[in-house]
Amino acid sequence: MTLSHDLFARARVRMPGGVNSPVRAFAAVGGEPVFFERAEGAHMFDVDGKRYIDYIGSWGPMICGHSHPKIIEAVQAAVAKGLSFGTPSPGEVTMAEKICELIPSLDQVRMVNSGTEAAMSALRVARAATGRERFIKFEGCYHGHADSFLVKAGSGAQTLGVPTSPGVPKGLAELTLNAKFNDLDSVEALFKQYPDEIACVAVEPIAGNMNCIPPEPGFLEGLRELCDRYGAALLFDEVMTGFRVHPQGAQGLYGITPDLTCFGKVIGAGMPVGAFGGKMEYMKLVAPSGPVYQAGTLSGNPVAMAAGLANLELIGEPGFYDRLGETTRQLAEGLQRVADEAGIPMATVAVGGMFGFFFTEQNRVVNFDQAAACDLERFKAFFTGMLAEGIYLAPSAFEAGFVSSAHSQSDVDETLAAAERVLGQISKA
Ligand code: PMP
Repeated sequence: MTLSHDLFARARVRMPGGVNSPVRAFAAVGGEPVFFERAEGAHMFDVDGKRYIDYIGSWGPMICGHSHPKIIEAVQAAVAKGLSFGTPSPGEVTMAEKICELIPSLDQVRMVNSGTEAAMSALRVARAATGRERFIKFEGCYHGHADSFLVKAGSGAQTLGVPTSPGVPKGLAELTLNAKFNDLDSVEALFKQYPDEIACVAVEPIAGNMNCIPPEPGFLEGLRELCDRYGAALLFDEVMTGFRVHPQGAQGLYGITPDLTCFGKVIGAGMPVGAFGGKMEYMKLVAPSGPVYQAGTLSGNPVAMAAGLANLELIGEPGFYDRLGETTRQLAEGLQRVADEAGIPMATVAVGGMFGFFFTEQNRVVNFDQAAACDLERFKAFFTGMLAEGIYLAPSAFEAGFVSSAHSQSDVDETLAAAERVLGQISKA
């Protein structure tokens, strides 16, 4: 028996499902989760000493690879000065300046401790700014686990088949309107139904919680236009895409200016960090400038700011995104090739440092219904085979994959060789 098995047995006694976040429990793929104790560059090492090539990257933050020496150094220097002051400190000012400088749609930002907090707070601001209570989100998009968003949410909520969680008040859930991703008509229909009641449209500009689904041409432009027409705010949840697909996030990649944006993951480099920001007309409402209450004991934490700033420094190096995009493209195209050769129908996608693959006959997948209609059993077999080969993919067909600048050509080659073996076996099964 393995140390992972022993740890999971202990964990299940004292932790719900043995984990602190549902997808980690491998519910969607079967088997037991692997426990990790160390990670370096593109590789993670489990408690039994096995090495894996990692394509989760802690779900996005590790864009420069694990344990990057510059980030570790920055964190160690910050730790030596104290873990938290509960007062203003210099790092958070530099962080706010840096984010606003990089993302032109932002006049101000507020640091928080998770993506959930960022989305929850940005929604509150949108509701306060418009004096409206309803909002539109998209089936299969995930914006964290705040009550208002847990209605037909993607990711772990989807994997577990709990689109609406018990415990979310019905009265609140009723204010959440679900539209179809990449379907402007479904959005317009909701605006027509509630022309003066919709505070914002919240969207993952590239959906990363129902696998990886980029916006169709015109979709984000159409959302901007509808929000303007009906006096609603456009809220981009860039917790995943921010600094992942382009130096200016998905909004830079597609040239759309949202009113409010959420961040997380990359800006914390693996520390618990999120942020939301936007135009001054919105951010001036946030306490103590304005009446919208929002606070956090550890928000702007100096150690977290040091880690995030070091990450932002590294991704600012010339050619960073070109190289990252190239590695990701090679991986996705390689997967497509080996699947084609094995006669397994697959659609792959790569955007910046994000990728996805779908076991489907279709050329591409554009919304949640299509993602859910893919061959989930085949995904399970592929995941399990790849895990045995030492390739760590997300343990759910509803998650995007992440590549880092630490992934080398040999990591990609090793991954594709493993995929060839695993898909070869699946095609014979
Ligand atoms: N928004 C998006 C787009 C996300 O992908 C996630 C997490 N995967 C969240 C919000 C929630 O972030 P957190 O898990 O840090 O609360």
